[in-house]
Amino acid sequence: MGYNAAPLERLVDEFSKFPGIGRKGATRMAYQVLSMPAADAEALAAAIRDAHTKLHRCRICQDYTEGEICPICANAKRDPSTICVVESPRDIAAFERTREYHGLYHVLHGLISPMDGIGADQLCVKELLARLHDGRVKEVIMATNPTVEGEATAMYLARLIKPLGIKTTRLAYGLPVGSSLEYADETTLYRALSGRDEL
Ligand SMILES: [Zn+2]
Repeated sequence: MGYNAAPLERLVDEFSKFPGIGRKGATRMAYQVLSMPAADAEALAAAIRDAHTKLHRCRICQDYTEGEICPICANAKRDPSTICVVESPRDIAAFERTREYHGLYHVLHGLISPMDGIGADQLCVKELLARLHDGRVKEVIMATNPTVEGEATAMYLARLIKPLGIKTTRLAYGLPVGSSLEYADETTLYRALSGRDEL
């Protein structure tokens, strides 16, 4: 226990749960919250509560949405023959910015990582496989990040999907190894998409 008052300690504990935020960063954030006007702190708390109660995963693609089905899955103009598989909802925003992808998405909500004890059953893999049996899907694009976990996950999924007679492709990476899709600029991402290779 530190010398901090209990409510401050509790706030630091909560901020520490964010990935990449250590004890120091969490302490800085907690003090920032304390220095806010009461109305701002209240708005922050309300925004967190609101996002959590109003948003849930799309029944089809697992992206966060307010309705039962997200606007992309519900859009009849999107091409249902192609599914782009991504690690997180943030990656969808990156592809949408290119304005060149018109297919559908599937969010895994993580990557296979034996080191962290994360297996396929903890990701939205069965939800993906369930989408592949109606004969509409012709291609699944593995758009996981070019990291060890991203590659391993893409390979794992390709092994499951190829026997279904569906083409599986991987983004052509002009993206540097270890980089993150969400920070890639539109041109790089568009190139990675249009130059994709069959797995
Ligand atoms: Zn959806």
